[in-house]
Amino acid sequence: MNVSIYPILLGFERCYLIKGEGVIMIDGGAPGRIDRFEKGIARITIEPEEIQLIVITHGHIDHIGSARDIKKITGAQIAMHQRDMDCLERGAKLVPPGVNTWGRVLIKMLTPLLTRVHIPITEVDLILGDEGLSLREYGIPGKIIHTPGHSMGSVSVILETGEVFVGDLAMNMVPLGLGPGLPIFAEDIQEVKESWRLLLEEGAETVFPAHGKPFSADSLLRALSS
Ligand SMILES: [Zn+2]
Ligand SMILES: [Zn+2]
Repeated sequence: MNVSIYPILLGFERCYLIKGEGVIMIDGGAPGRIDRFEKGIARITIEPEEIQLIVITHGHIDHIGSARDIKKITGAQIAMHQRDMDCLERGAKLVPPGVNTWGRVLIKMLTPLLTRVHIPITEVDLILGDEGLSLREYGIPGKIIHTPGHSMGSVSVILETGEVFVGDLAMNMVPLGLGPGLPIFAEDIQEVKESWRLLLEEGAETVFPAHGKPFSADSLLRALSS
């Protein structure tokens, strides 16, 4: 099966559309990004109604904020891990600890802003457990895997061809002078590394993060052994 990958930049965060025999979307962007979503999808050969499933990698605001509106336009179902789903269903705000200096500074700056941001809530249609989910029935040769660490309900989507969509489990934050590697925020950095090991065991070759450009999974291997 031929699979095509289309990034849609919704601002600082990247969502992805994956088209096989069906179409799924990874993540729902920050609040108020629906215009950018519509502009982004207008440029590619996918109609919004073709999207059957939106896999939300985790409950942080920049990944769930436009999910309700994207769901309305596309009619897609939303899949999310049970540990993070209160963020989308109830507007709960998760604030992860900073891992390095950048992370700590940014979280300090963002926390007061975060309290004022409104999250448009909606129902999670497909509640994911730790066992993950095959995407075959959505026409995608791949699966959702529970990859905790950045948040405890973080999931990744891995394709049989080695592309892996990790949300914020890894970042490629070139503007901050950082190369591909660890996220700058995480609930548990040891769990992040465990999840990286799992993805490598599962055959990850190219990492598609939500923040920054795709990079080779060799970077994860190097970071784990350094
Ligand atoms: Zn995050
Ligand atoms: Zn993020």
